[in-house]
Amino acid sequence: MANSRRTFLKQAAGVTAAHFFNVAQGATGQAAPVIGNPGWYDRPMRWAQLAFVEDDPGNYDLAFWLDYFQKIHADAACLSAGGSVAFYPTEIPRHYRSKWLGNMDAFGDILHGCRKLGMNVVARTDAHAAHQDIYDAHPDWIAVDEKGNKRRHPSDPDFWITCALGPYNFDFMTRVHEEVMTKYTPDGIFTNRWAGSGMCYCEHCRQNFLAFSGLNLPRTHDPQDPARRQYLVWHEQRLFALWRLWNEKIRAINPNASYLANAGGGALSDLDMKTIGELAPTLFADRQARSGLTVPWANGKNGKEYRATLGRKAIAGIFSVGLEEKYRWKDSVQSGDEIRLWVADGIAQDLRPWFVKFNAKPIDRRWLPVVEEIYQWHYANQNYLRNERSFARVAMVYSQQSASYYGGDDARAKVEDPALGFYQALVEARIPFEMVHDQLLDPEHIDRFKTLILPNIAALSTRQCEQIRAFVGSGGSVVATYETSLYDEWGVRRKDFGLASLFGASFSGEQGPMLNSYLSLQRQSHPLLTGFEDATRIINGVHCVKVTVVDSGTTSPLLVVPPYPDLPMEEVFTTPPTTHQPGVVVREVGHGRVVYFPGDIDRTFWDVLDVDHGKLLRNAVLWATNEPAPVTVEGKGVLDVSVWGQKSSMTVHLVNLTNPMMMKGPVREVIPLANQQVSIQVPEGRRVARVRLLVAGGDAHYRREHGAVHLTVPSIGVHEVVAVDFG
Ligand SMILES: [Zn+2]
Repeated sequence: MANSRRTFLKQAAGVTAAHFFNVAQGATGQAAPVIGNPGWYDRPMRWAQLAFVEDDPGNYDLAFWLDYFQKIHADAACLSAGGSVAFYPTEIPRHYRSKWLGNMDAFGDILHGCRKLGMNVVARTDAHAAHQDIYDAHPDWIAVDEKGNKRRHPSDPDFWITCALGPYNFDFMTRVHEEVMTKYTPDGIFTNRWAGSGMCYCEHCRQNFLAFSGLNLPRTHDPQDPARRQYLVWHEQRLFALWRLWNEKIRAINPNASYLANAGGGALSDLDMKTIGELAPTLFADRQARSGLTVPWANGKNGKEYRATLGRKAIAGIFSVGLEEKYRWKDSVQSGDEIRLWVADGIAQDLRPWFVKFNAKPIDRRWLPVVEEIYQWHYANQNYLRNERSFARVAMVYSQQSASYYGGDDARAKVEDPALGFYQALVEARIPFEMVHDQLLDPEHIDRFKTLILPNIAALSTRQCEQIRAFVGSGGSVVATYETSLYDEWGVRRKDFGLASLFGASFSGEQGPMLNSYLSLQRQSHPLLTGFEDATRIINGVHCVKVTVVDSGTTSPLLVVPPYPDLPMEEVFTTPPTTHQPGVVVREVGHGRVVYFPGDIDRTFWDVLDVDHGKLLRNAVLWATNEPAPVTVEGKGVLDVSVWGQKSSMTVHLVNLTNPMMMKGPVREVIPLANQQVSIQVPEGRRVARVRLLVAGGDAHYRREHGAVHLTVPSIGVHEVVAVDFG
C-alpha cells in the first residue's frame, strides 16, 4: 500500500491538497467510501459509555448499571472489550487479559444485558498502549521518539506506547477487532487513541515514509519543509488506510457494523474532515468538558464542525461528568450545572448526548441524578430533537489546510483564534449560524446560506476562490478578514489575494504586530457603523495587511490610524496621516455584499474582547446578510441561539451562557434570564398549530404577524426550547 515516490511526485505536480485527500482514499483499493448504509446509526438518541478499569470484573454491580441505562432511556452503549486490556476471554496470544477476569466475561455479560434492553452496542478498544510481553516479542511495535528511544507510557510504567502506523495496529489490533466481531457481533468497534501519540521514528515509519517520499522523517514542524509537508500527507493517508482496513474486516464479519473512529474536529484536527464525513456512518465528538479557559459554547462548536461534513448523519457529543483538566482527575465529578450547560449547548447544536464514565464502581455518585434528569428530558422531547435541517442563513468557514500548511505550529493563534473571535461575536449578537468545511464550498453545501464568513481563511486554492466568487455571483455575501486567500492551498504566499477582485482590493504589504493603532470612523453614515454614532475612532486589530483599493465601487467607512508612540507620554500624539489605508473595504456585487477587513479584528476580539470589535463584526454580518433573520431574540444576557426544522415542527434553542465566568468554564450558579422577546420566521406554507416551551413545559402565548411567530419567554434557566408545531 505504500505509494512510490514517483506516484507521489506525479500527484504533487499541480494538484490540490483536496485532491491528495481523495487520492489517499484509494489506498486500500476501495474506490467508494462506505456511504448510503442507512443501518442502525440514526436510531440511538442517547448514549451510555462505561469504560472498565482493570479491576472492574467481578467487583462492580452489573444490575445497577443495566437498571440505570433503562431508567435514563439510553438506547446505545459503548463498552470496553479489549486492546490494551481485554475484558473477555481472548484467545489471541499476548492480548493482555485483566488480572481480575478469571473465568468471567465482563464485556460479554454487560453486552448481553444491554441487548436485552434493546440497546445498540459498540465495543470499545484501546490501541495506544501495550504490556512488556508485547515489547519483548515485537520490539518494533513500540513507538520511538526523536532520539531513537522506545517510548515508555508517561503515566503508567507497566505500559509502552505503541506505533499507530505499523504492525501493532495493522496486524495485532486487526486480529483483536476480528475476534471481538466474531465472538459478539457488536454494532461497531470504537477505538480510543488509535491514531498515535505524536511523531514516531520506529523502523516501520522510517521505511514506509522513505518508500512514500524518498525522504527521511522530518525533524521540523515547518509545513514549508518538503519532508514535513509530505509527512502530513503520508500520515493522513496511512491512518485512513487503517480505518478502511478495520472497516473492511469488521464488515466482512457483520455487514451491519462499522469501524467507528474516535476522530474528527475543527481546523486544528489533522485528519481531513471531508474524507471522514464520507467514511463515517456516524461520528462522536470527543470533547468531554471544558479545560481551563474553554468557553461553554465550545461543545456546540463541535456539533457545527461535524455537521459541516457529515450532513444529516447522526452525530453525538461525548461528555464526561468530571473535570477535564491537565491534572487528570479522572475520578472527579464536576458541578451539576456545569454538566447541564455543557450538554445543553451540544444538544442545541444537534449533538446527541453520550456520557462516559471510567470505572464501573462509582466513587462519587453526584453526577448520576444530573445525567438522569438530562436524559429523561431528552427522551420526553426526542421528536423535537430529531433535526432535519438548520434554518441558519450565516455560515463560518473552517479550514484544516490553512491550519496545516499556513498555520503550522502557530495554527492555534493564526487560524483558530480568529475563528473563535468571530464565533464569540456571533454568539453575543445572537445570530444563529452553521459552519462549512473549506473543501465543501460547492453549491450543494453552501447555497442554503446567504452569508459566508472567512475568518482569516488564508490558504485557499484557485478553485476554492472560484467557488466563493461564484457564491457571491449568485447572490451570496462574504465577510472576510486579514490574510484570507493570500496563500494557496499549500500555504505558499501569492502575490495578491486570490479573492482580490471580490474584495475590490489588492495586497500591498504587511504590518504588525502594531501597538497603539486605531480605526477612524468616516463621517458618511454606513450601517457598518451602527451603534458608533458618538464615536470618532475605535481600536484597530494587532496585525494588518496594507491594501490598495482596485474597484471604484467600494467604500471604506473606516480608515487606519497608523501606530504612533505610546511612550513617553509626552509623545503620545499623532498628526493626520498622509496616506489613507482602508480599515475595511465594502462593496455590493449584484445581490451580494462583500465586507473585507484588512486587520485581524476577529483574532484581536478573541484576545482582547473589546466591545467595539464585537459590534463591528456583528454589523458586518447583518449588513452583508441583508434579509430578515430566521429568529431574533431580544433581552438581556448571553444566549447561544439555534433554529431547527423537524418533520412537523421547528424549534429554537436558547442556551443561557450568562455567567460571571462566561469566558471561563466554571459555573457556580445559574442566573436565569427574564423576558426574552423571540420572533421566529415560519417557513412559507406552514400553518402553526401551537407553540410550546419544552423545558418550562406547557403552551406559550404567541401572536402571528408578518409571517413570524412572536412570543415572550418569561424565564430561561440553563436552556429553553421553543417548539412550533405545524398543523
Ligand atoms: Zn512507528
